[in-house]
Amino acid sequence: MCEADPKRGLKVIIDPRRCIANAKCTTVAPGIYVLDEETGVAVLENEDQATVEQLFAGARACPTQAIIIEQFGRRVFPRILPPMFGESEDGDATKSASDSTEE
Ligand code: SF4
Repeated sequence: MCEADPKRGLKVIIDPRRCIANAKCTTVAPGIYVLDEETGVAVLENEDQATVEQLFAGARACPTQAIIIEQFGRRVFPRILPPMFGESEDGDATKSASDSTEE
């Protein structure tokens, strides 16, 4: 029997600039999302043991969309990722600085 792995191609990215360390993700998926003791921001732990439901539950619980889930290189959550203050529309905080160096 061959069952498709629902985590196939899945990649979880936690944007430390968006994380406000309110521990919503660690509450809904304890042991999977944890707050880093030094930086205070959320990090992913035990990714191998995490279920798809736990990964998405943490991402859904995040009020700042700091947890981004991609599958095969395409963002699947959140559907809409609003730019942060000071960030360009495509989400690249460094782009506007480099764009202004045109000659
Ligand atoms: S829910 Fe979002 S903002 Fe809160 S700790 Fe987790 S990643 Fe950070």
